[in-house]
Formats: sequence, structure tokens, C-alpha cells
Amino acid sequence: MTPRNFNNALSVSAIYFLLGLSWIYFSDLAVATIASNKAQLTLMQTYKGWFFIVATSIILFFLSYWFFRKEYLAHLHFDVLAHRDTLTQLPNRLSLVEYLDDKCTQEEPFAFLFLDLDRFKEINDSYGHRFGDELLIYIAQILYRTFPKESYLVRTGGDEFVIILPSHKEPKVIAALIEKLFDTLTHPIFVQQTDIYINASIGIAQYPTDGRTYEELLQKADSAMYNAKKSGHSGYSFYEASFIENSLKRTTLSTNLKKALQNNELTLFYQPQVDIKTNQIIGAEALCRWLSPSGIISPSEFIPFAEESGLILEIGELALVQSAAFAKEWHEKTLLSRRVAVNVSAKQLSHPMFLETLDRILALHQCSPELIELEITESAILENPKKILALLQSIKAKGFHLSMDDFGTGYSSLSYLKDLPIDKLKIDQSFVRNIAHNPKNQIIVEAIINLGKGLGMEVLAEGVETAEELNFLSTLGIDSVQGYLFYHPLSVQIFREVSNV
Ligand code: C2E
Ligand code: MG
Ligand code: MG
Repeated sequence: MTPRNFNNALSVSAIYFLLGLSWIYFSDLAVATIASNKAQLTLMQTYKGWFFIVATSIILFFLSYWFFRKEYLAHLHFDVLAHRDTLTQLPNRLSLVEYLDDKCTQEEPFAFLFLDLDRFKEINDSYGHRFGDELLIYIAQILYRTFPKESYLVRTGGDEFVIILPSHKEPKVIAALIEKLFDTLTHPIFVQQTDIYINASIGIAQYPTDGRTYEELLQKADSAMYNAKKSGHSGYSFYEASFIENSLKRTTLSTNLKKALQNNELTLFYQPQVDIKTNQIIGAEALCRWLSPSGIISPSEFIPFAEESGLILEIGELALVQSAAFAKEWHEKTLLSRRVAVNVSAKQLSHPMFLETLDRILALHQCSPELIELEITESAILENPKKILALLQSIKAKGFHLSMDDFGTGYSSLSYLKDLPIDKLKIDQSFVRNIAHNPKNQIIVEAIINLGKGLGMEVLAEGVETAEELNFLSTLGIDSVQGYLFYHPLSVQIFREVSNV
């Protein structure tokens, strides 16, 4: 009992005591005045006693009714708060757990959809939390409108939602509902005077085949959602047993990668870039390699996990540090201004200290920014074009070169390209492969070359493997190439030998 409750209880009983005493004193006085004989006095005393009991019972009844009702309403309010997401008004994770505790006792199949918005964190960081909150409310409304009335919609936290489809177990029907949602999401959502496009990834687990408890269903749907995310934008995936193995592999890989960084197992290989007119090496791309005790692991295996776990910031810094040292050595030994191109991930670009990191690394190795080319991808720009444009302009103003990697694969809007301070377009190797026999790729590559040159950029083709590809690219007017036809990515020692560094 708190001191305040104690005082309140004391006051109530003191008032009751005083009122009771007054009642006894004054009623006895009144009865004594009215009663004309002893028998009448005894009878009136009895009535008075009964009246007292009935009156206090009625008062007690109303008081306790009022008190318990208040308690009940407070409990009800608390219960609603505990089970609802206050932002979207949808049920929350606690509701879902209770709902499934009940549902999973029945044998009736249902589908468990786990939805995660793509790039929500960036939107939140760029436009502010209020904007993000408003967007989540719109998403909840879209989900409510898209899925059938009997669905159970839940916001489990952040940008994650769960949708239980009780009477839809046919994959075809579930897929059709998801397609309907994705269709809606192809239209922009108007939030705070801004049109915003958002994608979602959905993982689906089925009860009871994939899991029989909330935890099992969530784990399976989550691994399916991860698989769906790989498609990059608005994908969905039904759970398959291999997903859990992959997710275990991912966790092991992340732990091992952390150790590898501490043990200096990550290093850079350099792939020469060649001018096709002179056959001279005009630059090199730094490509990360993991020299693990069990062999060399390629970046396409570990970079995605590094992105996910945030280790990409450390790897990116390592690549910049080693490349700056290498570029300086190359320049000092040959007196040629050859650039070393370093891949920069979207996470690095959106890090608030990226510019400071660049300055620090150059100062550390006394390397001129002119000797470093930063390779960015179209998708990194798409995440927040205005912010990235301003950042790229600052990077350019410092003297770095900028190139657009894997050009043609990132669904980028060409209208941004003219405003970007990009020096070089790198045509993705998928367009180069077998180009002499692929008329569609010929048209695309020719268009990219014309576009790049028209905008005053250099154009390099990646992944040139055959003389036939090289000849065809040369007729289309390409400036330089990078590929196994000339050089594979080389260790520093071998690079020194082939380029006389
Ligand atoms: P990328 O930046 O597009 O690099 C080119 C990839 O094509 C490299 O793969 C290279 O080895 C490969 N390649 C070069 N010539 C040929 C060829 O003629 N044929 C074929 N089939 N492939 C060729 P790699 O080294 O496995 O790197 C894969 C990707 O990993 C890179 O693609 C880049 O996106 C990423 N990456 C590599 N190192 C780093 C890094 O330090 N930081 C970041 N953020 N990403 C990196
Ligand atoms: Mg690259
Ligand atoms: Mg590339």
C-alpha cells in the first residue's frame, strides 16, 4: 500500500466514523424526543438500526460499483493498449502470439505471411521519423484494403507486418493476393507532399506443414522472406527447407567474416583496365578477396552478408586504405597517373562520416584523390537520389573520380544521369557476354556508349573474355575494357610484375 492510498483509506474511515457517531447521537436524541413510552422507544431504536444497515449497504453498493467499474475500465484500456499497435491501430505481436496460441490448437490450415518493407530505414533516415510513421499508417491501410476481411493483420514492429490468411491455403490464391498488393505498391504513396515508392518482400509459411507454433512459423516465414529479398524489389517466396540451412550458413559466415577481418585474411586483388587503342594498362579495379584457410572466397559470396551485418563499413574502409597505399606506390614508381577504382557500397555512401573517412585515408597515405576512382552502383543512387547527388558533388569537388558500376542493371532513371558528376560508365558484363551474336545486347551497348559519350563520360566494358567480344565492342566505339581476355584480378605481387611497378 502506498502512503497516499493509506492516507485516503484513513480519511474515508475517519469520515465514516464521524458520520456514524453523529448519526447515533442525533438519531438517539430525535428518537428520545419523539417516543412517548419505553416500548415505542425500543421499536424506534430497532427501525433506526435497520435503516442504518440498509442505507449504508446502498451507499456501499454504489461506491463499490463505481470503484470496480473504474478498475475494469482501466484494465480494459490497458488491455487494448497492450494488444494494439498505437501507430497503425492494428493488433501487435502480443495479440498475434495469443491469436496463434489459440489457432494452433486447431487442425485448420492457414497461411502465415511475413512482410518487410524494402529500404524503409533509409526512407526513415532521409525523410524523418514522422514521415516514416505516416507511411506505415498508409501501408497498414493498403494491407487492410488488399487482404480479405477474415485476414488477421498485425504490425509486429518497425516495418514488419504479419498477415494470417485463415481460409486461403492454396499457393495460387495466396500468390494472387500478394500480386494484388504489389500492383497497388507500383503506384506512389503521397506522404507529406511527397510521392514515395515503396516495395515489400514477403515470406510465406503454411500451418501445419511448415510449423505448428508461432516461433516455428515466424522462423520459416522469415527465412522465406530473406530469400524473397534477394530479388531486390517486391518479391515473395514460399518456405522451402533449404532456406533454414542457408540462414544457418549466413550466421556462420558472418561470424567467420568478423574473425577474418581481425586475422587480416581480407586483402585486395587488382584487375587491370586496358585502353583498347594502345593496349596499355590505364587503371585497375580493386577487388576484395578473402584468403580463408580453406581457400580464396569470392566477394560475391561474402559481400551480401557483409552488407547485411554492417561489416561492409569495415571492409569498405580496408579497401580504401589498401587502394590508396597501392595507388600512391604505383604513381611514385612509374610517375604515371593511373587510377585505382574502389567499389563503394550503398551503406558506405549513406554513412554520415563517409566524407571524413575519405579525407582521413588520403591524409594517412598522402595519396592524391586524383588517383582514386570510386565505383558506385545505380541502386545506391536510387535509394535517395537528392542526398546522394549532393554527396557525389562534394566527393567530386575533393578531386576523386567517380564511375557508375554495372551500368544498365539497376533500373535507374536516366534523368538523374545528366545531373550526376560521373566520369565513367562501366557497362555490365551481362551485356558484353557473346555480344557479337546477341542483337539486343548490341543495341543496348551501343545506346549506352552513345549516351555516356554524349554526356562527356568515358565508357568501359566489363567482363570481356573473347577477342570476338573485344572486336565488336571496338566497332561500337568503346574506350577501354576490363576482363579475363587481358587480365584476371591479380595479387599485388603479380600486378607489380605485369605492370612494372
Ligand atoms: P564488380 O565491381 O562489377 O567487379 C567485377 C567483377 O567481374 C569481379 O568479380 C571480377 O573478378 C569479375 N570479372 C572481371 N573480368 C571478368 C571476365 O572477363 N569474366 C567474368 N565472368 N568475370 C569477370 P569479383 O571480384 O568476384 O567481385 C564481384 C563483386 O563484388 C564486384 O563486382 C563488386 O560489386 C563486389 N566487390 C568486390 N570487392 C568489393 C569491395 O571491396 N567493396 C565492395 N563494396 N564491393 C566489392
Ligand atoms: Mg566494380
Ligand atoms: Mg561491375
